[in-house]
Amino acid sequence: MNNAIAIDGPAGAGKSTIAKLVAKRLGFIYVDTGAMYRAMALYMIKNGISAEESEKISSTCKSADITIKHENGEQVVYLNGENVNGLIRTEEVGNMASASSVNKDVREKLVELQQKLAATTDVVMDGRDIGTVVLPDARLKIYLTASSEVRAKRRFKELTEKGIECDIKVIEQDIVDRDYRDMHREISPLKQADDAIYLDSSDMTIEEVAEKIMELYASEQ
Ligand code: C5P
Repeated sequence: MNNAIAIDGPAGAGKSTIAKLVAKRLGFIYVDTGAMYRAMALYMIKNGISAEESEKISSTCKSADITIKHENGEQVVYLNGENVNGLIRTEEVGNMASASSVNKDVREKLVELQQKLAATTDVVMDGRDIGTVVLPDARLKIYLTASSEVRAKRRFKELTEKGIECDIKVIEQDIVDRDYRDMHREISPLKQADDAIYLDSSDMTIEEVAEKIMELYASEQ
């Protein structure tokens, strides 16, 4: 095991922003596992498969070739050779990702890819099951959360800045539903690992959270 940092938590807690920042400061590779589940969800949508069709999800995921490259410091996700970074950030794909990620075959395939990535380089990896399943021996585990109201506000701001019209109430409800599904699914539910450090970022700035993680990491050495 390398010097991995695992960051888990619910949707919109700021995991990716923080993980990216910490990875940059430490010279580690940032791995966004949600993007892999999103790419898989996009593949299901493209194939006309709905969230309820679990057998079809199981068989179809086998033909999805998902690969990760790092270009100019950014993670790029390829789905069957196509760069899908610009297609996976919609609410539709996020909701489908939350539904299709309950599937055992989807998880097995993506967990294997994630473990391979972390075996060869130092990573800051974020997701839902990184500290509990993917990298149980990570050097530092963080469970990052914030109130659903704060998380909805952050996501609203992010989408509005991208010019995407949205309703904050719908976003908050989506977040609550998604968390419920992620926390109550049978396989690898979102939960704090026993040895993870709980951080509530509701009243913290990005810089404060990143600094806190840097301090915690330094004290783990
Ligand atoms: O983090 P993000 O919102 O991009 O993740 C999309 C969905 O992918 C999550 O709601 C969750 O259901 C799923 N996911 C997962 N395990 C991970 C990362 C994401 O199940 N490690």
